[in-house]
Amino acid sequence: MPTPVTLIPGDGIGPSIADATVRVLEAAGADIAWDVQQAGQAGVASHGDPIPEPTLASIRRTRLALKGPLETPVGKGFRSVNVALRKEFDLYANVRPARQLVPSPRHYDDLDLVLVRENTEGLYIGKEQYVAQGDDPQAAAESVAVVTRAGSERIIRYAFEYAVAHGRRKVTLVHKANILKYSSGLFLEVGRAMAKEYEGRLAFDERIIDAMAMNLVMDPNRFDVIVTTNMFGDILSDLISGLVGGLGLAPGANIGKDAAIFEAVHGTAPDIAGKDVANPGALILAAAMMLDHMGQPETARRVRDAFTAQIQEGQVRTRDLGGAAGTVEFTDALVARLRG
Ligand code: NAD
Repeated sequence: MPTPVTLIPGDGIGPSIADATVRVLEAAGADIAWDVQQAGQAGVASHGDPIPEPTLASIRRTRLALKGPLETPVGKGFRSVNVALRKEFDLYANVRPARQLVPSPRHYDDLDLVLVRENTEGLYIGKEQYVAQGDDPQAAAESVAVVTRAGSERIIRYAFEYAVAHGRRKVTLVHKANILKYSSGLFLEVGRAMAKEYEGRLAFDERIIDAMAMNLVMDPNRFDVIVTTNMFGDILSDLISGLVGGLGLAPGANIGKDAAIFEAVHGTAPDIAGKDVANPGALILAAAMMLDHMGQPETARRVRDAFTAQIQEGQVRTRDLGGAAGTVEFTDALVARLRG
C-alpha cells in the first residue's frame, strides 16, 4: 500500500520544483500516494484562505506533508502560513542539515552539519506590544520570549536521539545564558543535565551564540549536530546553508509528535518564478529526508546519491550553481540517471 502524503505545491517557484520532486521520487521508486492541496496565495486563489480547511484535514489524515514555499504578504494583519502550520501541528523540531556538495569558495572540507532548532517557543511566540510614554502611545515596543522546561527537554532530547540514530559524534548547544540568565539559562541547564545520559556515546559542548557565529565561519568542521532556541536557530540555519552553496541546496524538516512537514529552506523566489531556472535541489533533498522519516531509507539513499553525483559531475547544474540547465532539463537528467 503506498503511503499517503499531502503535497502542497505552494507559490512562486513552488509548483515547478514540486513537480520536479514528484518526478524524481517516482523515478527512484518511492511508494507514495500524493494528495495535492493548496496553501499560501494559491490557497487564497482556490479557497479564499491561505490555509484552507481541506489542506489541514489532509495533513491531519496523512500526518505527512511535502510543502513548496508559501508567500506571506509583508505587513500587519497577515499571519505567516508557515508559522501557523507549525503551531497547528505542534511541529517543535526544525531540522536543517547542511552538507557540502559543491566546492566551497571558502574551501571547507566535506562539511556536514545538522542544525536542530526549537520551532515553537522563544521570541517567536508573537507576544509583542507597544508601551506608551507621555503622549507617545508607541514610545517603546516589547517582545516576550518564553522558554519552557518541557519545550527545552523535548527539543534537546530530539537532538541527542537524532545524533545517536544518525551515527553522529557530538552535540553542541548554543545559548546566550550569560545575558539571558533565565530563558537561555533554563535551556542550557536542561541541556547540561541531559548530556550526562549520553556520556560515552556522544560528546557534548556549549557555545554562546555570538562566538558560535564566528566559529561557524572560521572553522565549521569542528561542529556536528547543533541544538538551539528558535531565533538563534533561524539565523544560524541560514548561515550554515550559506557555507555549503546557498539556499538551492538547503532542505528542512518540521517534526512533531503527530505530524511532520518537509520543505525547502528558501522562499518563493518571485524574481525567478515562471522562468524555468529554479534549482529544485532543496525540495528534492527535503523529500529524501521525508523518505527516511517514512521508513523508506533505501529510496532516500538512491535519490541523494543520484542528486549528489549529478551536482558533483557538474555537466548539468542550474544557474545558481554556475550551470546553464533549466529546472526541467536538470530534472530530466536526474530522472534518466535514476531510471538508467
Ligand atoms: P527567497 O528564498 O524566495 O529568495 C532569495 C534569493 O534566493 C532570490 O534571489 C531567489 O531567486 C534565490 N532562490 C531562492 N530559492 C532558489 C532556488 N530554488 N533556485 C535558485 N535560486 C533561488 O527569499 P525572499 O525573496 O526573501 O522571499 C520571497 C517570498 O518567500 C516571501 O513572500 C517570503 O515570505 C516567502 N518565504 C517562504 C518560505 C517558506 O515557505 N518556507 C521561506 C522563506 C520565505
